[in-house]
Amino acid sequence: MWGSDHISRYSNEFVEWITDSNLVLLNTTVPTYRSSAAGKDWGAEAVTLRDTYLALIRSILEYGFPVYCCASAASLEKLEKIQLGAARIITGLRRSCPKRNCPLEADLQPLHLRSKKISSPITSSYGHHNKTSLYFNNWHNNQRLKRNSPFSYADHLQLPSSHIEPHSLKSYLSPSEGLPRVHFHFNMSAPVTKQDLIPAHLRQLALESINEIPCDAIKIYTDGSRLDDHACSGIYIENSGQNFYFCQRNPDLSSVFKSELTAIKLGLEAIINQSDYGELWILLDSRSSLQNLHNWTQVGDKTSISILHNLKLISKHHNVHFQWIPSHVDIFGNEQADALAREGCSLLTTSSPAITYSEHQSKINRQLSKEWKIPPSHHWYAAREPGSFLDLNCDRASKTSISRLASGHTKSLSFFEGRKTFKFCSKCKVQQASAEHILDCLGLSREDLYDSPLLVIDFLRVNNLMDLV
Ligand SMILES: [Zn+2]
Repeated sequence: MWGSDHISRYSNEFVEWITDSNLVLLNTTVPTYRSSAAGKDWGAEAVTLRDTYLALIRSILEYGFPVYCCASAASLEKLEKIQLGAARIITGLRRSCPKRNCPLEADLQPLHLRSKKISSPITSSYGHHNKTSLYFNNWHNNQRLKRNSPFSYADHLQLPSSHIEPHSLKSYLSPSEGLPRVHFHFNMSAPVTKQDLIPAHLRQLALESINEIPCDAIKIYTDGSRLDDHACSGIYIENSGQNFYFCQRNPDLSSVFKSELTAIKLGLEAIINQSDYGELWILLDSRSSLQNLHNWTQVGDKTSISILHNLKLISKHHNVHFQWIPSHVDIFGNEQADALAREGCSLLTTSSPAITYSEHQSKINRQLSKEWKIPPSHHWYAAREPGSFLDLNCDRASKTSISRLASGHTKSLSFFEGRKTFKFCSKCKVQQASAEHILDCLGLSREDLYDSPLLVIDFLRVNNLMDLV
């Protein structure tokens, strides 16, 4: 976890300082809500409270990340407690409610997971292609001053990955050079959006555009797709009556966008040595890849740079056109590329393990959200997603009641000799009013809590049971 074996006194002191300043902030913020919550007026909305916490408090908790990432686990636990306190205020959950449930109900990702998310952009892009990365790779954890640095922490988390492609910050082409013979067509003969046209009309317009392409041109249809975690590119090439096609499976978790670009790259590589043709037309159904290449001064990823390099070579002798066409309207070349892209997902081997920095980021984010969005297995608590009751269209008191009912820790719960006891149910006056019994007594089930929470609130009100939850 948080740099557990890289403890630094200074980091611990820093965490102390953050904890103290945030406790002050939390304590000065909270009484306003608390005092109004105690009366009839429930003060700010749960969502407003959550936003306030994120903006005013969590930003400070995370501000010192590079310093406190080297603090001891015990010190960092104190920061987690601040967030737990905020989660309790936002949701109104009782203190007896397990720690694990509160952040989930308040939709606040635990800080130790947030820290991994924050540290990955700091450290994972080093790879082995610039001075910083060389320094990082040759750095040894044997100097006292450097032992507790963020570098050491990143190394400990094994964040630096050699599977991340280098990303260039400089433009591959100079603006004066440009791509004068490369043309981008974001529309067909008439401007269209897919939503406002019927497929037959779209197909008609696409065919009109395709029919205007000279006979001696090479047409490359490209498409990218992703099935579960497998990504693939499909390429279909028409060259004066001779057609050929192929597909390639890309590294797992690659984005569809990257697969689209890879398809263009592979298409260009396939025809780079040909010379006996007029123009080159690349037909694709992805406006985002088209836009990306059109903004060529800003691209720095390896795939786009390779495309620009080949475009520069080809456009010395041929005009190159990128034409957007609609997908799934039965254009033969596009359908072929699409089928190839889906077929390729079942190939066994991938091209290379490298992924781009943004793909790596989304991979980490996905892993981290998987880690905390799965609710704990519990005989009563069965939240399906974080913050399930935050956005309910009702007042805060009702939201709190429903959260408490879902947690099982209601107002009438007390502990006697370590056992849970509840007040007697004011409806049947026979049994203890546990969350389970209240729903039973109302003829409702636990699923109703999540499927129709507003209905449950109505039932509670009508039966005067709000005081028990
Ligand atoms: Zn009852």
